[in-house]
Amino acid sequence: MASDQKNSCSGLFDCTLCGDCCKGFGGTYLTKADIDTISRYIGVTTKEFISEYTSPSGSKRLIAQGENRYCIFWDKVCTIHPVKPRMCRQWPFIPSILVDVGNWWAMAASCPGMNQDAPEKEIVDCVKKIMTP
Ligand code: SF4
Ligand code: SF4
Repeated sequence: MASDQKNSCSGLFDCTLCGDCCKGFGGTYLTKADIDTISRYIGVTTKEFISEYTSPSGSKRLIAQGENRYCIFWDKVCTIHPVKPRMCRQWPFIPSILVDVGNWWAMAASCPGMNQDAPEKEIVDCVKKIMTP
């Protein structure tokens, strides 16, 4: 879920575009707005999008993965970058950091763009700032 938070809190996070987060762990959840926007962008109906590009996870939908375990929209870069899901746009400034700031360092272990030495207060302040509409 290569992120585009380069201009916000850049001392904490600077995406290297390595694509590691677009592979395997966790999965990428889609909101209804994500489904509508991405369907339009790639020129399919929402029904086709759901059936061909997503997989179920309880009552929610995840972006499907290819055989290489990468997100189906990964091809050296994110091929839906302008409309990528909210979850990808927000990363790594996500609500679970506010539940437990330790999640920042856990995530940073597999995301080279995240500052592993960041002070706790700066992380929490930044997550709050970015999550505020
Ligand atoms: S939508 Fe793009 S940024 Fe998000 S996981 Fe897929 S390839 Fe990565
Ligand atoms: S793992 Fe981190 S640095 Fe690599 S693309 Fe994803 S967000 Fe960017």
